[in-house]
Amino acid sequence: MSPDLGERLAAIRDRVAAAARRSGREPAAITTIVVTKFQPVELVRELRELGVTDFGENRHQEAREKAALVPDVHWHFVGQLQGKKARQVRAYASVIHSIDRVSLVDTLDSPGESADSSAAPPTVDVFAQVNLTDDPGRGGAAPADLPALVERIEAAPGLRLLGVMAVAPLGEEPRAAFARLRGIADEVRRIAPGATRISAGMSADFEDAIAEGATHLRIGTAITGSRPDRA
Ligand SMILES: *Cc1c(COP(=O)(O)O)cnc(C)c1O
Repeated sequence: MSPDLGERLAAIRDRVAAAARRSGREPAAITTIVVTKFQPVELVRELRELGVTDFGENRHQEAREKAALVPDVHWHFVGQLQGKKARQVRAYASVIHSIDRVSLVDTLDSPGESADSSAAPPTVDVFAQVNLTDDPGRGGAAPADLPALVERIEAAPGLRLLGVMAVAPLGEEPRAAFARLRGIADEVRRIAPGATRISAGMSADFEDAIAEGATHLRIGTAITGSRPDRA
């Protein structure tokens, strides 16, 4: 095991706890998801030995392979989701962070036929992803489209809406972007009172996200070290 891994994990845990306390929040109310995309499964196992229970991946095939090898943890799917893969992701993911269009909800909410989906648990926790940029090519629903998406998720018995998710745009102060996300989260709660969580904050900006109410951090390289080149 790399001795640095445990040190980096401990350092991030300390920073998360300190940022939570600065905001008058309980560190235990914040879930740190370690994003292991492009990392070998051995690293996932080492992190699990170190007490990590929540892992994030952004590509279906890689996520499915790792989840099969390390099943006794929570897998979070954080990447853009293709409609035709959505039901398969549901079979292993505890939480899907990237629900950004009504058609995805329709797919996830329809009765299963394949072997994959019949093994899926009856409900899956989801976040509605918001696009905080002006570029429609980025992942996430435009804020104007969010109410209809949230209503559709609320009407789906197989989906439980945890809250909203976003990535801070490049070229904007992350704290300002997360403040906007917090305002959007407040609006979503008027439609879906149970949607109290916010998935925000990565290696470079998680302290800003905590200051603006993030409950689920998605942290990769600050814990894992740099990612190997993608195959
Ligand atoms: C890769 C990724 C992260 C983690 O990014 P780091 O900068 O390595 O912390 C978080 N969220 C999403 C959606 C990602 O794709």
